[in-house]
Amino acid sequence: MVTLSGRGASGGIVTGTVRYYARAAVRVHRREVEDPNPELRRFERARGIAVRDLTRLCLSGKRSVGEDGSLIFRVHQMMLEDPEYCAAVRRMIREERINAEYAVSTVTAEFARMIGREENGYISTRAADLRDAADRILSILSGQGQPELGDDGPFILAAEDLSPSETVRMDRRKVLAFITAGGSRYSHTAILARTMGIPAVIGVSGVCKELDGQQALVDGFTGEICIAPDEQTIRRFREYSRRHDADEERLQCYRDRKTATADGRRIRLCANISTPDEVETARQNGAEGIGLFRSEFLYLAGGGYPSEAYQFSAYRRILEAMAGRRVVIRTLDLGADKRTEAMDLNAGMSLGLGPRGIRLCLNCPELFRPQLRALCRASVYGHLAVLLPMVTSTREITQVRDLLRGIRADLDREGIRYSDDMELGVMIETPAAAILSDQLAQEADFFSIGTNDLTQYTLALDRQDGQIAAFAYEDDTAVMRLIALTAEHAHRAGIPVGICGEMAGSAERTEEFLNMGIEELSLPPHTILPLREKICAM
Ligand code: PEP
Ligand code: MG
Repeated sequence: MVTLSGRGASGGIVTGTVRYYARAAVRVHRREVEDPNPELRRFERARGIAVRDLTRLCLSGKRSVGEDGSLIFRVHQMMLEDPEYCAAVRRMIREERINAEYAVSTVTAEFARMIGREENGYISTRAADLRDAADRILSILSGQGQPELGDDGPFILAAEDLSPSETVRMDRRKVLAFITAGGSRYSHTAILARTMGIPAVIGVSGVCKELDGQQALVDGFTGEICIAPDEQTIRRFREYSRRHDADEERLQCYRDRKTATADGRRIRLCANISTPDEVETARQNGAEGIGLFRSEFLYLAGGGYPSEAYQFSAYRRILEAMAGRRVVIRTLDLGADKRTEAMDLNAGMSLGLGPRGIRLCLNCPELFRPQLRALCRASVYGHLAVLLPMVTSTREITQVRDLLRGIRADLDREGIRYSDDMELGVMIETPAAAILSDQLAQEADFFSIGTNDLTQYTLALDRQDGQIAAFAYEDDTAVMRLIALTAEHAHRAGIPVGICGEMAGSAERTEEFLNMGIEELSLPPHTILPLREKICAM
């Protein structure tokens, strides 16, 4: 038995077979050939395989991420069948007598540039889609194939690193656990694992291709990974599973209870979710509402930009499932590590400090308007509160209110219903927002404090970096002061304030949060009942 160790990022112990996931990176060189015919045949063969793979992915994608989510594969397939594109690759191979890889990569770059010129802003969806589709052919030509997982049943996924979009696209029924060499507890990938209830260990040295196919036991609490576990370790795992099931059973009595301390102080425990499917888990775990739906994962899951209709049905589904309980839907918080292939990475977006959240949305009305329209239309199906991410000034709220006014006027003209009661709140997750919270409270209907980013930006430490983030969270005095200031300003203005960052689940902080008059804590669904039990005993 070999033991690897990392940091536990999402609790739980599982055993299973490891699958190693590696992103394909293909280097292309120009090579002249005497006879172009074999290269033409190589191109046609690789294209045929890619189109077949995409058809299969489209079908299996429909089952795991739904019709809209799987659409991206269909789009890629269509691009590889585009007559103009194919003719240009063939012409280049024939006329310049060069290898297929070079022709594919040059023609793709040219077409992507042409498409990109027609589009503007940070988003050049079709250009990025074409590059993605062509990468599939290139990796087949290079003999690497595309990394594909998931056809052979539940596995432990091992990778150097995973992006949030890669994580959200994994079929959660098949992933038993994540183990990665990179990442931090506060990166979105770790947060996603927690909201999905999948054990995760990050910062593991020794994650490599050789692990593929091995049996392993992953302990997401301690960060320990046993490769080829012995009998004693397996017994420990069985004992854990038994205790875990017993705990879940015991906590069930808290499911339909309100959250209040023994001396009568009340606080709401809500769920953070990242896909509409998770609303069911939230209900099963006694959520008193949805405190944060990270809507950007609708975008990251599909790889492209979902239509207004798709968003409307996702929001409506969540609102109806929560049957009148408050649902906070955060508008798109793309940027930093939350990127899709559809975002032009060459557009000068710095990690963490580039256009993100509300800034990116206000710069891209073609992206933001369909979301706001979908939200307005869905607002009649329940109690909807819309939350704006990464706000730094009152001007941003005013701009959103202006946009909403225009959208409501359009909906009136079109005879489409919306609710006048939809709340508009602000995330307090930048130091600027906390400092200006007295002014923001005049414009916002509620506050939700995002401690993940508030900590990152207050302490000037990267939340993605495992080493740094672990060290940063040892002393959060400055962050606690900003939270207290925000709560004070909210109460003075008479608006409610909650916390939806990871700190909301920290039982050591609950007493302080109660004393500050925080009304709501929003956390990963599986952590609600254990915290409710602790609060009820306080
Ligand atoms: C936060 O920053 O605390 C937050 C809840 O938002 P996210 O983790 O999605 O950035
Ligand atoms: Mg945030």
